Amino acid sequence: MLSNSLVELDRQHLIHPVAPYRAHEARGVTVISSGEGAYVRDAAGNQLLDGFAGLWCVNAGYGQLTIIEAINRQLQELQYATGYFHFGAETPIRLAARLAELAPGDLNRVYFTLGGSDAIDSTIRFIRYYFNALGKPEKKQFITLEQGYHGSSSTGSGLTALPLFHAGFDVPLAWQHRIPSPYPYRNPVGSDGPTIIAASLEALKSKVAELGGPEKVAAFYCEPIQGSGGVIVPPDGWVRAMRDLCAELGILFVADEVITGFGRTGPIFACEEEGIVPDMMTMAKGLTSGYLPMGAVMMRESIYSVIADASARSGMAVGHGFTYSGHPVSAAAGLAAIALYTEGGLMEQGRRSGETLIAGLKALEDHPLVGEARGRGMLAALEIVSNKDTKAKFDPSVKVGEKLFETAYANGLIVRAFGDGTLGFAPPLCCSQDDIALLLERTRKTLDDLL
Ligand code: PLP
Repeated sequence: MLSNSLVELDRQHLIHPVAPYRAHEARGVTVISSGEGAYVRDAAGNQLLDGFAGLWCVNAGYGQLTIIEAINRQLQELQYATGYFHFGAETPIRLAARLAELAPGDLNRVYFTLGGSDAIDSTIRFIRYYFNALGKPEKKQFITLEQGYHGSSSTGSGLTALPLFHAGFDVPLAWQHRIPSPYPYRNPVGSDGPTIIAASLEALKSKVAELGGPEKVAAFYCEPIQGSGGVIVPPDGWVRAMRDLCAELGILFVADEVITGFGRTGPIFACEEEGIVPDMMTMAKGLTSGYLPMGAVMMRESIYSVIADASARSGMAVGHGFTYSGHPVSAAAGLAAIALYTEGGLMEQGRRSGETLIAGLKALEDHPLVGEARGRGMLAALEIVSNKDTKAKFDPSVKVGEKLFETAYANGLIVRAFGDGTLGFAPPLCCSQDDIALLLERTRKTLDDLL
Protein backbone atom coordinates (compact mmCIF):
# COMPACT_ATOMS: atom_id res chain seq x y z
CA MET A 1 0.00 0.00 0.00
CA LEU A 2 2.75 2.39 1.07
CA SER A 3 4.76 1.29 -1.92
CA ASN A 4 1.85 1.89 -4.32
CA SER A 5 1.32 5.41 -3.09
CA LEU A 6 5.06 6.07 -3.33
CA VAL A 7 5.08 4.86 -6.92
CA GLU A 8 2.26 7.25 -7.69
CA LEU A 9 3.95 10.20 -5.96
CA ASP A 10 7.16 9.41 -7.82
CA ARG A 11 5.29 9.25 -11.13
CA GLN A 12 3.76 12.66 -10.50
CA HIS A 13 6.67 14.60 -9.04
CA LEU A 14 10.19 13.20 -9.14
CA ILE A 15 12.36 13.83 -12.20
CA HIS A 16 14.93 11.01 -12.28
CA PRO A 17 18.52 11.33 -13.46
CA VAL A 18 19.22 9.78 -16.89
CA ALA A 19 15.76 8.26 -17.29
CA PRO A 20 13.39 7.81 -20.24
CA TYR A 21 10.72 9.92 -18.53
CA ARG A 22 7.55 8.54 -20.17
CA ALA A 23 8.71 4.91 -20.11
CA HIS A 24 9.63 5.38 -16.47
CA GLU A 25 6.17 6.76 -15.64
CA ALA A 26 4.61 3.75 -17.36
CA ARG A 27 6.82 1.20 -15.57
CA GLY A 28 6.90 2.86 -12.14
CA VAL A 29 9.82 3.30 -9.77
CA THR A 30 11.56 0.44 -7.93
CA VAL A 31 11.92 1.69 -4.37
CA ILE A 32 14.98 0.49 -2.45
CA SER A 33 14.31 0.66 1.25
CA SER A 34 17.31 -0.74 3.16
CA GLY A 35 20.81 -2.12 2.75
CA GLU A 36 23.26 -4.35 4.63
CA GLY A 37 26.71 -5.36 3.40
CA ALA A 38 26.45 -6.17 -0.31
CA TYR A 39 22.64 -6.57 -0.24
CA VAL A 40 19.66 -4.23 -0.50
CA ARG A 41 15.98 -4.82 0.10
CA ASP A 42 13.25 -3.28 -2.04
CA ALA A 43 9.89 -1.99 -0.84
CA ALA A 44 8.25 -5.26 -1.90
CA GLY A 45 10.56 -7.12 0.49
CA ASN A 46 12.86 -8.72 -2.10
CA GLN A 47 16.49 -9.08 -1.07
CA LEU A 48 18.95 -8.31 -3.89
CA LEU A 49 22.68 -8.70 -4.27
CA ASP A 50 23.80 -5.23 -5.34
CA GLY A 51 26.27 -6.06 -8.09
CA PHE A 52 26.61 -2.38 -8.95
CA ALA A 53 27.15 -0.83 -5.49
CA GLY A 54 24.34 1.66 -6.02
CA LEU A 55 25.85 3.60 -8.92
CA TRP A 56 29.40 2.22 -8.59
CA CYS A 57 29.77 4.21 -5.41
CA VAL A 58 28.96 2.21 -2.26
CA ASN A 59 32.48 0.76 -2.27
CA ALA A 60 32.46 -0.06 1.46
CA GLY A 61 29.03 -1.72 1.30
CA TYR A 62 25.87 -0.77 3.15
CA GLY A 63 25.50 -0.30 6.91
CA GLN A 64 29.16 0.31 7.78
CA LEU A 65 28.92 1.46 11.38
CA THR A 66 32.19 3.36 11.48
CA ILE A 67 31.03 5.61 8.64
CA ILE A 68 27.57 6.07 10.16
CA GLU A 69 29.06 6.86 13.58
CA ALA A 70 31.53 9.37 12.09
CA ILE A 71 28.65 11.13 10.35
CA ASN A 72 26.61 11.14 13.57
CA ARG A 73 29.52 12.47 15.63
CA GLN A 74 30.12 15.27 13.17
CA LEU A 75 26.42 16.09 13.08
CA GLN A 76 26.32 16.35 16.88
CA GLU A 77 29.30 18.67 16.91
CA LEU A 78 29.04 20.95 13.88
CA GLN A 79 26.52 20.62 11.08
CA TYR A 80 28.00 23.12 8.66
CA ALA A 81 30.98 25.38 8.27
CA THR A 82 31.80 27.42 5.23
CA GLY A 83 35.17 27.15 3.58
CA TYR A 84 34.76 30.68 2.19
CA PHE A 85 37.01 33.55 3.16
CA HIS A 86 39.31 32.41 5.97
CA PHE A 87 36.90 29.87 7.53
CA GLY A 88 37.31 26.13 7.67
CA ALA A 89 36.48 23.04 9.71
CA GLU A 90 38.54 20.16 11.01
CA THR A 91 37.22 17.23 8.93
CA PRO A 92 37.69 18.74 5.43
CA ILE A 93 41.20 19.88 6.40
CA ARG A 94 42.08 16.38 7.64
CA LEU A 95 40.49 14.77 4.58
CA ALA A 96 42.46 17.02 2.21
CA ALA A 97 45.67 16.09 4.03
CA ARG A 98 44.80 12.35 3.89
CA LEU A 99 44.06 12.55 0.16
CA ALA A 100 47.38 14.31 -0.41
CA GLU A 101 49.09 11.42 1.41
CA LEU A 102 47.31 8.82 -0.72
CA ALA A 103 47.46 10.49 -4.14
CA PRO A 104 50.53 9.97 -6.31
CA GLY A 105 53.43 12.45 -6.54
CA ASP A 106 52.83 16.11 -5.76
CA LEU A 107 49.04 16.03 -6.20
CA ASN A 108 48.94 17.91 -2.91
CA ARG A 109 46.16 20.40 -3.36
CA VAL A 110 42.49 19.48 -2.99
CA TYR A 111 39.36 21.38 -3.98
CA PHE A 112 36.14 19.74 -2.73
CA THR A 113 32.99 19.53 -4.81
CA LEU A 114 29.59 17.88 -4.35
CA GLY A 115 30.16 15.08 -6.85
CA GLY A 116 31.88 14.16 -10.09
CA SER A 117 30.19 16.50 -12.58
CA ASP A 118 31.10 19.64 -10.68
CA ALA A 119 34.60 18.24 -10.10
CA ILE A 120 35.01 18.01 -13.88
CA ASP A 121 33.52 21.48 -14.33
CA SER A 122 35.94 22.80 -11.72
CA THR A 123 38.92 21.36 -13.62
CA ILE A 124 37.80 23.22 -16.74
CA ARG A 125 37.67 26.48 -14.79
CA PHE A 126 41.00 25.92 -13.03
CA ILE A 127 42.71 24.94 -16.30
CA ARG A 128 41.46 28.04 -18.10
CA TYR A 129 42.57 30.22 -15.18
CA TYR A 130 45.97 28.46 -15.14
CA PHE A 131 46.75 29.00 -18.81
CA ASN A 132 45.46 32.60 -18.72
CA ALA A 133 47.74 33.17 -15.72
CA LEU A 134 50.68 31.69 -17.62
CA GLY A 135 50.04 34.16 -20.45
CA LYS A 136 48.85 31.38 -22.78
CA PRO A 137 45.22 32.36 -23.34
CA GLU A 138 45.17 30.51 -26.68
CA LYS A 139 45.31 27.12 -24.97
CA LYS A 140 41.57 26.51 -24.79
CA GLN A 141 40.86 23.23 -26.65
CA PHE A 142 40.04 20.10 -24.63
CA ILE A 143 40.36 16.50 -25.85
CA THR A 144 38.75 13.34 -24.46
CA LEU A 145 37.95 9.80 -25.57
CA GLU A 146 35.03 8.50 -27.55
CA GLN A 147 32.89 6.50 -25.10
CA GLY A 148 34.24 8.68 -22.28
CA TYR A 149 31.93 9.82 -19.49
CA HIS A 150 32.74 12.90 -17.45
CA GLY A 151 29.38 13.92 -16.00
CA SER A 152 26.45 15.93 -17.25
CA SER A 153 27.02 19.56 -16.24
CA SER A 154 26.26 22.21 -18.84
CA THR A 155 29.91 22.50 -19.95
CA GLY A 156 31.49 19.23 -18.82
CA SER A 157 28.89 17.23 -20.73
CA GLY A 158 30.92 18.17 -23.81
CA LEU A 159 33.83 16.15 -22.43
CA THR A 160 31.39 13.27 -22.05
CA ALA A 161 31.30 11.70 -25.48
CA LEU A 162 28.15 9.60 -25.17
CA PRO A 163 25.60 11.04 -27.66
CA LEU A 164 22.73 10.64 -25.18
CA PHE A 165 24.22 13.46 -23.10
CA HIS A 166 24.45 15.82 -26.07
CA ALA A 167 21.19 15.27 -27.96
CA GLY A 168 18.91 18.27 -27.52
CA PHE A 169 21.08 20.05 -24.95
CA ASP A 170 23.13 22.46 -27.12
CA VAL A 171 26.34 21.26 -25.48
CA PRO A 172 29.33 23.57 -26.19
CA LEU A 173 31.25 21.21 -28.46
CA ALA A 174 33.30 23.78 -30.38
CA TRP A 175 36.22 23.45 -27.95
CA GLN A 176 35.66 19.86 -26.78
CA HIS A 177 37.03 17.12 -29.04
CA ARG A 178 37.41 13.37 -29.09
CA ILE A 179 39.79 10.65 -30.20
CA PRO A 180 38.94 6.92 -30.45
CA SER A 181 38.86 4.82 -27.29
CA PRO A 182 41.46 2.10 -26.72
CA TYR A 183 38.77 -0.56 -27.02
CA PRO A 184 40.51 -3.91 -27.63
CA TYR A 185 37.33 -5.90 -28.41
CA ARG A 186 36.20 -3.60 -31.21
CA ASN A 187 39.29 -1.68 -32.24
CA PRO A 188 39.76 -1.34 -36.02
CA VAL A 189 43.53 -1.75 -35.44
CA GLY A 190 42.96 -5.10 -33.67
CA SER A 191 43.36 -6.18 -30.08
CA ASP A 192 47.17 -6.17 -29.80
CA GLY A 193 48.18 -3.87 -26.90
CA PRO A 194 51.24 -2.13 -28.41
CA THR A 195 49.34 -1.52 -31.68
CA ILE A 196 46.42 0.05 -29.81
CA ILE A 197 48.79 2.24 -27.78
CA ALA A 198 50.58 3.39 -30.95
CA ALA A 199 47.22 4.18 -32.59
CA SER A 200 46.05 6.23 -29.57
CA LEU A 201 49.33 8.17 -29.46
CA GLU A 202 49.02 8.90 -33.17
CA ALA A 203 45.36 9.91 -32.77
CA LEU A 204 46.19 12.37 -29.98
CA LYS A 205 49.11 13.86 -31.94
CA SER A 206 46.95 14.27 -35.06
CA LYS A 207 44.06 15.79 -33.09
CA VAL A 208 46.43 18.29 -31.46
CA ALA A 209 47.88 19.17 -34.88
CA GLU A 210 44.39 19.51 -36.38
CA LEU A 211 43.44 21.96 -33.60
CA GLY A 212 46.43 24.21 -34.40
CA GLY A 213 49.19 22.60 -32.33
CA PRO A 214 49.93 22.30 -28.59
CA GLU A 215 49.75 26.07 -28.19
CA LYS A 216 45.98 25.78 -28.74
CA VAL A 217 45.32 22.69 -26.63
CA ALA A 218 44.82 22.84 -22.86
CA ALA A 219 44.27 19.27 -21.72
CA PHE A 220 43.55 15.63 -22.42
CA TYR A 221 41.08 13.85 -20.11
CA CYS A 222 40.58 10.14 -19.64
CA GLU A 223 39.23 7.59 -17.20
CA PRO A 224 41.96 5.01 -16.48
CA ILE A 225 39.23 2.44 -17.25
CA GLN A 226 36.23 3.89 -19.08
CA GLY A 227 33.17 3.15 -16.96
CA SER A 228 29.88 4.31 -18.45
CA GLY A 229 31.21 3.74 -21.97
CA GLY A 230 31.03 0.00 -21.17
CA VAL A 231 33.95 -0.71 -18.80
CA ILE A 232 36.62 -0.41 -21.48
CA VAL A 233 39.97 -1.61 -20.15
CA PRO A 234 42.91 -0.18 -22.13
CA PRO A 235 46.01 -2.32 -22.73
CA ASP A 236 48.72 -2.28 -20.05
CA GLY A 237 50.97 0.74 -20.58
CA TRP A 238 48.31 2.82 -22.36
CA VAL A 239 47.73 5.28 -19.48
CA ARG A 240 51.46 5.83 -19.01
CA ALA A 241 52.04 6.31 -22.74
CA MET A 242 49.24 8.90 -23.00
CA ARG A 243 50.45 10.69 -19.88
CA ASP A 244 54.01 10.85 -21.25
CA LEU A 245 52.83 12.17 -24.61
CA CYS A 246 50.83 14.93 -22.89
CA ALA A 247 53.96 15.96 -20.96
CA GLU A 248 55.97 15.97 -24.18
CA LEU A 249 53.36 18.10 -25.95
CA GLY A 250 52.94 20.48 -22.99
CA ILE A 251 49.25 19.75 -22.48
CA LEU A 252 47.74 18.79 -19.14
CA PHE A 253 46.78 15.18 -18.41
CA VAL A 254 43.62 14.89 -16.30
CA ALA A 255 42.74 11.48 -14.84
CA ASP A 256 39.05 11.11 -14.05
CA GLU A 257 39.05 8.61 -11.18
CA VAL A 258 35.41 9.16 -10.21
CA ILE A 259 34.68 5.45 -10.70
CA THR A 260 38.16 3.93 -10.56
CA GLY A 261 39.22 5.55 -7.29
CA PHE A 262 39.07 4.13 -3.76
CA GLY A 263 39.96 0.52 -4.34
CA ARG A 264 37.55 -0.12 -7.20
CA THR A 265 40.26 -1.55 -9.47
CA GLY A 266 42.66 -2.70 -6.72
CA PRO A 267 44.87 0.20 -5.54
CA ILE A 268 43.46 3.35 -3.96
CA PHE A 269 43.70 5.10 -7.37
CA ALA A 270 43.92 3.25 -10.69
CA CYS A 271 46.72 5.59 -11.88
CA GLU A 272 48.99 3.93 -9.34
CA GLU A 273 48.96 0.78 -11.43
CA GLU A 274 51.02 2.55 -14.10
CA GLY A 275 53.04 4.65 -11.68
CA ILE A 276 51.98 7.95 -13.20
CA VAL A 277 51.26 11.37 -11.71
CA PRO A 278 48.43 13.15 -13.53
CA ASP A 279 48.41 16.97 -13.58
CA MET A 280 44.91 16.90 -12.13
CA MET A 281 42.71 14.13 -10.83
CA THR A 282 38.96 14.07 -10.18
CA MET A 283 37.18 11.78 -7.74
CA ALA A 284 33.77 11.27 -6.07
CA LYS A 285 31.60 8.16 -5.46
CA GLY A 286 33.85 5.88 -3.34
CA LEU A 287 35.32 8.95 -1.61
CA THR A 288 32.42 8.77 0.87
CA SER A 289 31.28 5.31 -0.26
CA GLY A 290 28.18 7.15 -1.50
CA TYR A 291 26.97 7.76 2.06
CA LEU A 292 26.94 11.53 1.48
CA PRO A 293 27.59 13.65 -1.61
CA MET A 294 31.18 14.71 -2.14
CA GLY A 295 33.74 14.92 -4.91
CA ALA A 296 37.18 16.46 -5.27
CA VAL A 297 39.72 17.87 -7.69
CA MET A 298 43.36 17.31 -6.88
CA MET A 299 46.04 19.32 -8.62
CA ARG A 300 49.81 19.33 -8.67
CA GLU A 301 51.65 21.83 -6.53
CA SER A 302 53.06 23.59 -9.61
CA ILE A 303 49.57 24.24 -11.04
CA TYR A 304 48.24 25.47 -7.71
CA SER A 305 51.21 27.85 -7.41
CA VAL A 306 50.56 29.46 -10.79
CA ILE A 307 46.89 30.01 -9.90
CA ALA A 308 47.66 31.27 -6.38
CA ASP A 309 50.38 33.66 -7.53
CA ALA A 310 48.24 35.07 -10.35
CA SER A 311 45.38 35.76 -7.98
CA ALA A 312 47.79 37.41 -5.52
CA ARG A 313 49.12 39.64 -8.32
CA SER A 314 45.59 40.59 -9.38
CA GLY A 315 44.59 41.44 -5.81
CA MET A 316 41.42 39.37 -6.28
CA ALA A 317 40.29 36.07 -4.79
CA VAL A 318 40.13 33.03 -7.09
CA GLY A 319 36.42 33.28 -7.88
CA HIS A 320 35.48 29.64 -7.85
CA GLY A 321 33.50 28.14 -4.99
CA PHE A 322 30.35 26.40 -3.82
CA THR A 323 28.50 26.85 -0.51
CA TYR A 324 28.91 23.14 0.25
CA SER A 325 32.53 22.74 -0.84
CA GLY A 326 34.26 20.71 1.88
CA HIS A 327 31.07 20.04 3.85
CA PRO A 328 32.22 18.84 7.30
CA VAL A 329 29.70 15.97 7.51
CA SER A 330 30.59 14.61 4.05
CA ALA A 331 34.26 14.99 4.96
CA ALA A 332 33.71 12.93 8.13
CA ALA A 333 32.15 10.20 5.96
CA GLY A 334 35.15 10.43 3.60
CA LEU A 335 37.70 10.02 6.39
CA ALA A 336 35.83 7.01 7.80
CA ALA A 337 35.38 5.38 4.37
CA ILE A 338 39.09 5.80 3.56
CA ALA A 339 40.00 4.30 6.94
CA LEU A 340 37.94 1.23 6.02
CA TYR A 341 39.59 0.89 2.59
CA THR A 342 43.11 1.24 3.98
CA GLU A 343 43.53 0.17 7.63
CA GLY A 344 40.18 -1.68 7.63
CA GLY A 345 41.34 -4.14 4.97
CA LEU A 346 38.56 -3.46 2.44
CA MET A 347 40.97 -2.76 -0.41
CA GLU A 348 42.63 -6.08 0.27
CA GLN A 349 39.27 -7.84 0.39
CA GLY A 350 38.22 -6.13 -2.85
CA ARG A 351 41.43 -7.30 -4.52
CA ARG A 352 40.79 -10.92 -3.48
CA SER A 353 37.10 -10.85 -4.44
CA GLY A 354 37.96 -9.01 -7.65
CA GLU A 355 40.21 -11.86 -8.79
CA THR A 356 37.35 -14.31 -8.29
CA LEU A 357 34.92 -11.97 -10.03
CA ILE A 358 37.06 -11.49 -13.14
CA ALA A 359 37.96 -15.19 -13.36
CA GLY A 360 34.28 -16.15 -12.97
CA LEU A 361 33.13 -13.69 -15.61
CA LYS A 362 35.88 -14.89 -17.97
CA ALA A 363 34.47 -18.41 -17.53
CA LEU A 364 31.16 -17.04 -18.85
CA GLU A 365 32.82 -16.36 -22.21
CA ASP A 366 31.63 -19.88 -23.12
CA HIS A 367 28.05 -18.59 -23.05
CA PRO A 368 26.43 -17.99 -26.47
CA LEU A 369 25.43 -14.43 -25.51
CA VAL A 370 28.81 -13.31 -24.15
CA GLY A 371 31.18 -11.75 -26.67
CA GLU A 372 33.77 -10.70 -24.12
CA ALA A 373 34.29 -10.57 -20.35
CA ARG A 374 36.65 -7.82 -19.18
CA GLY A 375 37.55 -5.85 -16.11
CA ARG A 376 40.00 -5.19 -13.34
CA GLY A 377 39.43 -5.65 -9.63
CA MET A 378 35.81 -5.04 -8.72
CA LEU A 379 35.00 -3.27 -12.00
CA ALA A 380 33.91 -5.49 -14.87
CA ALA A 381 31.61 -6.03 -17.83
CA LEU A 382 30.17 -8.69 -20.05
CA GLU A 383 29.70 -7.55 -23.62
CA ILE A 384 26.52 -9.15 -24.92
CA VAL A 385 26.35 -10.04 -28.62
CA SER A 386 23.80 -11.69 -30.88
CA ASN A 387 26.57 -13.43 -32.84
CA LYS A 388 29.92 -14.29 -31.28
CA ASP A 389 31.69 -14.74 -34.64
CA THR A 390 30.68 -11.40 -36.14
CA LYS A 391 30.46 -9.63 -32.73
CA ALA A 392 27.09 -8.24 -33.91
CA LYS A 393 25.06 -6.47 -31.25
CA PHE A 394 21.35 -7.06 -30.78
CA ASP A 395 19.04 -4.79 -32.73
CA PRO A 396 17.97 -1.92 -30.42
CA SER A 397 14.31 -2.95 -30.92
CA VAL A 398 15.10 -6.17 -28.98
CA LYS A 399 15.88 -4.02 -25.89
CA VAL A 400 18.30 -6.66 -24.70
CA GLY A 401 19.69 -4.39 -21.96
CA GLU A 402 16.28 -3.86 -20.40
CA LYS A 403 15.50 -7.57 -20.60
CA LEU A 404 18.79 -8.50 -18.97
CA PHE A 405 18.29 -5.97 -16.20
CA GLU A 406 14.73 -7.14 -15.42
CA THR A 407 15.69 -10.83 -15.59
CA ALA A 408 18.71 -10.30 -13.32
CA TYR A 409 16.49 -8.43 -10.87
CA ALA A 410 13.97 -11.28 -10.86
CA ASN A 411 16.95 -13.56 -10.11
CA GLY A 412 17.92 -11.43 -7.09
CA LEU A 413 20.78 -9.47 -8.68
CA ILE A 414 21.21 -5.80 -9.53
CA VAL A 415 23.52 -5.15 -12.48
CA ARG A 416 23.89 -2.19 -14.80
CA ALA A 417 22.66 -2.83 -18.31
CA PHE A 418 24.10 -0.31 -20.75
CA GLY A 419 22.05 0.69 -23.79
CA ASP A 420 23.75 -1.82 -26.10
CA GLY A 421 23.21 -4.67 -23.64
CA THR A 422 26.70 -4.66 -22.09
CA LEU A 423 26.34 -5.68 -18.46
CA GLY A 424 28.35 -3.72 -15.92
CA PHE A 425 29.49 -5.05 -12.53
CA ALA A 426 30.89 -2.99 -9.66
CA PRO A 427 30.03 -4.84 -6.45
CA PRO A 428 30.94 -3.43 -3.02
CA LEU A 429 34.51 -4.25 -1.98
CA CYS A 430 33.15 -5.93 1.15
CA CYS A 431 31.80 -8.85 -0.93
CA SER A 432 32.93 -12.23 0.36
CA GLN A 433 33.91 -15.13 -1.89
CA ASP A 434 30.40 -16.52 -1.30
CA ASP A 435 28.80 -13.25 -2.43
CA ILE A 436 30.84 -13.32 -5.64
CA ALA A 437 29.93 -16.97 -6.22
CA LEU A 438 26.26 -16.02 -5.86
CA LEU A 439 26.70 -13.06 -8.20
CA LEU A 440 28.24 -15.34 -10.84
CA GLU A 441 25.57 -18.00 -10.40
CA ARG A 442 22.76 -15.45 -10.77
CA THR A 443 24.47 -13.89 -13.80
CA ARG A 444 24.71 -17.25 -15.57
CA LYS A 445 21.07 -18.00 -14.78
CA THR A 446 20.07 -14.58 -16.15
CA LEU A 447 21.92 -15.25 -19.42
CA ASP A 448 20.42 -18.75 -19.66
CA ASP A 449 16.92 -17.38 -19.04
CA LEU A 450 17.33 -15.10 -22.04
CA LEU A 451 18.30 -17.83 -24.51
N1 PLP B 1 33.25 11.16 -14.19
C1 PLP B 1 33.04 9.85 -14.27
C2 PLP B 1 34.15 8.97 -14.76
C3 PLP B 1 31.83 9.28 -13.88
O1 PLP B 1 31.62 7.97 -13.99
C4 PLP B 1 30.83 10.13 -13.38
C5 PLP B 1 29.52 9.58 -12.94
O2 PLP B 1 29.21 8.42 -13.11
C6 PLP B 1 31.06 11.51 -13.32
C7 PLP B 1 32.30 11.99 -13.73
C8 PLP B 1 30.02 12.43 -12.81
O3 PLP B 1 29.85 12.25 -11.46
P1 PLP B 1 28.48 12.66 -10.71
O4 PLP B 1 27.42 11.74 -11.23
O5 PLP B 1 28.81 12.47 -9.27
O6 PLP B 1 28.20 14.08 -11.05
